[in-house]
Parts: sequence; C-alpha cells; structure tokens
Amino acid sequence: MLAGDLLGAYCLSEAGSGSDAAALVTRATLDGTDYVVDGAKAWVTHGGHADFYNLMVRTGSPGADGAGPHGISCLLAASDTPGLLPQPPEKKMGMRSAHTATIVLDGARVPADRLIAGEGEGFRIAMSALDGGRLGIAAVAVGLAQAALDLAVSYATERRQFGSTIASFQGMEFLLADLATQVEAARALYLSAARLHDAGKPYGPQASMAKLFATDTCMRVTTDAIQVLGGAGYVEDYPAERYFREAKVMQIFEGTNQVQRIVIGRSLTRS
Ligand SMILES: Cc1cc2nc3c(=O)[nH]c(=O)nc-3n(C[C@H](O)[C@H](O)[C@H](O)COP(=O)(O)OP(=O)(O)OC[C@H]3O[C@@H](n4cnc5c(N)ncnc54)[C@H](O)[C@@H]3O)c2cc1C
Repeated sequence: MLAGDLLGAYCLSEAGSGSDAAALVTRATLDGTDYVVDGAKAWVTHGGHADFYNLMVRTGSPGADGAGPHGISCLLAASDTPGLLPQPPEKKMGMRSAHTATIVLDGARVPADRLIAGEGEGFRIAMSALDGGRLGIAAVAVGLAQAALDLAVSYATERRQFGSTIASFQGMEFLLADLATQVEAARALYLSAARLHDAGKPYGPQASMAKLFATDTCMRVTTDAIQVLGGAGYVEDYPAERYFREAKVMQIFEGTNQVQRIVIGRSLTRS
C-alpha cells in the first residue's frame, strides 16, 4: 500500500447503519478455518477497485440492547474472495475520480487468520481509523478552500464592472477578507490537531473539531467563490462549480458534522 501498488477499502457503513455505525448487521460465522460472511456494506470508497477490504462484521452477540459495538470484528478480505460482490458504482455529485459502491457479501469465505486483532476488536479499530481520517479530510478541505479563495481573488482583481475591478468594491473586499480569515483559522486548527497526533498524545476531539470547522469553512468558501464569479461561477468554464460539488461530501463522510459535534460534546461532558 505504501508503495502505491495496492488499494484498500474501509467497509463500516451499511444501508441501515450510517451515523449509528455500531448498529451494523453484516454477520460472520466461523466455519472450520473460514469465516462465512453475509450482508452488504454500503458506500465503500474504492468499491470494485480495491485489492482488499477491511470488513467490519458482527461475529459475536451484540450487547443487551441488541446492537452496539460488542461483537463487532474486523476481517481483511481479498478482492477475489468468493462471494464478495461489488455492485455498480454510485452516481455522485462530486468525488467522481474514486468509485463508491455497495459490496454484497453472499456467503463470502474469509480465512480465519485474516481476523485483525481479536474478535470484538472491530469497532475500536474502526473508530481509531476515523480519528486519523478526520485529520486528512480537514487538510483536504483546507486545500480545496484555498483553491477556491485563490480563484475568487484572481477573478475579482480582473473582472471590471461600473468602471472598476469588482475587488475594489468594499462589499467584495470584506467578503474576500472573511473567507481568507476562515481558511487561515481552519489551517491552524488542523495543524494543531496534527501536532498532537505526531507527539503521540490523544487527539480525537481535536481531529473532530478540525474536520467540523475545516469542512464547514470549505463549504462556505466554495459557495461564496461562485458568488464572486457571478454567472461565470455557475458554469463549467471555471473550476468554481466543481470545487463547490467536491466540498459537500466532506461534511458527510468520516462521520457527518453533526456526529463531530456529538464526539466533541461527549469529550467535554463525559470524561
Ligand atoms: C462519497 C461517499 C463515500 C463514502 N465512503 C465510505 C467508506 O469508504 N466507508 C464507509 O464505511 N462509509 C463511507 N461512506 C458513508 C458515510 O460515512 C455515511 O454516509 C455517513 O456516516 C452518514 O451516514 P448516512 O449516510 O447513513 O446518514 P444518516 O446516519 O442516516 O444521517 C442522516 C442525517 O441525520 C443526521 N443525524 C444522524 N444521527 C444524528 C444524531 N444523533 N444527532 C443529530 N443528527 C443526526 C446526520 O448528521 C445526517 O445529517 C461514504 C459516503 C459517501 C457519500
């Protein structure tokens, strides 16, 4: 993977369990030296193209409430696993250079030695991957917001109306100033969380704060960038409309921004 030769996929979500990921129902039953897996994982990035799939599945009894993180395990399934069936890719508003697909598991046989850690460890593994992923999303959001800001500034300093560049109007300059401030704040926030990570310190809530703030900022900046370009922002001649389409998913995946608020809130009130 580090050499870029192998592609992985992370399979936590299901049709009935998104934000409430621990409610997943895909089941793996030990049969001799294999786990037999039945169910379907939804929204799998790289689905159909990955070389292996990290499957979060239920191997044990759920908690007393009939769901929850108990009994969830992580299996590493190769793409040629019999019964592992990628479905046609979703038709998305953005992120079109990566396929997203449901993976049906129809009696898929995964060797038992492909169990990561032990039975019941899957939810902990899934959540720890999300902390790092949220930092990555925050960084991508800052990069995308910066690109949209650069485009807006460049257009505003060239486009002339009422005999002047539109950048010379205070209403426009204040808008650009607010956008630049938000981008800078988002960058500082994710770098601060990344430094905690690098120092080996707990950084989960800070990663959620960075993901929440950077992706909301990105949505705002990409939306306002279209406004700065006017009609030119709405058509495909400029990249503004694409930036806007690419921004939206970042408020949704790796835990929606409502879920980030839940994570941050719990870190404050349930120590
Ligand atoms: C392009 C794309 C790629 C993805 N890639 C992957 C992947 O590789 N692997 C993977 O496992 N998943 C992946 N996902 C799935 C993604 O993580 C889920 O879409 C996300 O967690 C939200 O789940 P959901 O869509 O079921 O929405 P739901 O959970 O049904 O939420 C719907 C709305 O209700 C809100 N909501 C839910 N619960 C609460 C609450 N308690 N309080 C307040 N609001 C709440 C949500 O914030 C959201 O606004 C991907 C999704 C997309 C769109």
